[in-house]
This record gives sequence, structure tokens and C-alpha cells, in this order.
Amino acid sequence: MNNAAASLPLMLKQLRLSVVRVHWEAVAEKAVNDHWSPQQYLAELCHMELANREDKRLTRYLKESSLPSGKQLASFDFDAIEGVSKTQIKALIDAPSWVKTGDNLLLFGASGIGKTHLASSIGYGLVEAGIRVKFSSASALVQHLQKAKQGLRLEDALLKLDKYAVLILDDIGYIRKTDQETSVLFELIAHRYERHSLIITSNQSFEDWDELFDDTVMTVAAIDRLVHHAKILQCKGESYRRKAMLKSKT
Ligand code: ADP
Ligand code: MG
Repeated sequence: MNNAAASLPLMLKQLRLSVVRVHWEAVAEKAVNDHWSPQQYLAELCHMELANREDKRLTRYLKESSLPSGKQLASFDFDAIEGVSKTQIKALIDAPSWVKTGDNLLLFGASGIGKTHLASSIGYGLVEAGIRVKFSSASALVQHLQKAKQGLRLEDALLKLDKYAVLILDDIGYIRKTDQETSVLFELIAHRYERHSLIITSNQSFEDWDELFDDTVMTVAAIDRLVHHAKILQCKGESYRRKAMLKSKT
């Protein structure tokens, strides 16, 4: 081994090529045995390094997303719901151009119909496509923003959420109406408008959203921004939760 090769492990460490550092010798042996060209050898090592980084990124994105476990597309039964098709949901995942333009997705429907499960399924699909997603109950996020506002850090908190191309606000109808809370919800919507996407689930239709904001003017302004570039899905049918409960009793 010449001098340059002897310092290879150290150089690879400095370059943070951890996978190459572990595998370069074994792959070199294989390369010699199988008569690979130098280019082939280098390409194989690069490929291994990149694949490992991609894996790690996915794991990191999944962890930070706080998506509810098990609520994925594979376990969703589309026969049990009306108004939403598998093709529609798959298109949202496979052609995520709507995320690039910061469009929103609104999921309406009665309690137990599968809104959270669907929103989460889309979240998982987008994460797999390399898109950063954050799932939160709407009320927890509003409380978080309210605290930030009290500490005069609302702008910071909103900017921090910008790293997520998609923010899922689950159950917007459960936000309790206090002045502070509702105005931070409005500020969140206005902040992300035409820049980053929101996926919102709600068991209340727009007519009842007056309950969520300070006054009608704010409600209208919030809804205007949300629906300007939005896909709206109306989930219909019987509550899956209720059906499952009844089934377990028989
Ligand atoms: P919602 O958010 O509309 O109240 P959820 O998404 O929480 O409803 O659904 C209630 C429960 O039923 C969850 O455990 C969910 O995984 C399950 N569920 C709902 N719809 C379906 C479906 N079509 N296929 C499989 N599981 C479903
Ligand atoms: Mg729900």
C-alpha cells in the first residue's frame, strides 16, 4: 500500500464518506475478482454512500413528521368511504406539484369517517417522496403558537414551520375559541398562504367556522386564503369507527 492509500481511511473520514470508509476494501476485492473498471468501482462506492444517505434522510423525515403510526394508505379501505377514491389520493402523492405551489388540501366529513387516516396516508406518501411533513393536532399547534406569541416569538415559530412543505392540522374544529388562539391560527394561515401547504381535517363545514375565529371578517379572510388554491375532499358514508365498534360487539 502506498502512502496515499494508507491515509485513505482518514481522508474518507474527513470527507464524511462513512459508508465508503467501511466498504472500500471489501468492494475493492470484489472489483479485482470481477475485473471491474476503476469507474465501476468508484460508481459502486458512490452508489452505496448515496443510498445510505437517502435511507437516513427518510428515517429522519419520518421521525420528525410525528405521523400517527399505522395510518397508512395500505391499511385504508376505500370501499368503506364515499366521495374519495384511491386514485385521487394516489395522485396527490404521486404528483405532488400542488405541494411545490403551496396549495392546500381540506378534508371534510363526520367524525370517524377516516379523515385523520387519509391525511396521514398522504403525509406518509409525501415523506417517502422526500417531502418534509409535520402532523399535529390543530389545537396542540395553536397552543404552541400561542405560547410563542406570548413570548413575542410568533414570527420565529412560524418561520420554523416553513421547513415543512406540508403541515397537517388535524381536527381544526376542536380548537377552543379564545382571542389569542384564534388570531394565531389566522396568522399561521396567512403566513403559509401561497408558499407552503396545509392539510386540514374538519368535521365542521365552513358555515360553522365562525366558531374558530374572533369575528366574521377574520373567518372570511382565513377561508379565502385557504381555499384560493385548494383541493377539497368531502368524505361521506358511515363512521368507520362506529362500524368497527359494532362489528366487534357481534
Ligand atoms: P376521523 O379523523 O374522520 O374522525 P379517523 O381517521 O380517526 O376518523 O378514523 C377512525 C378510525 O377508523 C381510525 O382507527 C382509522 O384508522 C379507522 N378507519 C377509518 N376509515 C377507515 C377506512 N376506510 N379503512 C380502514 N380504516 C379506517
Ligand atoms: Mg380525526
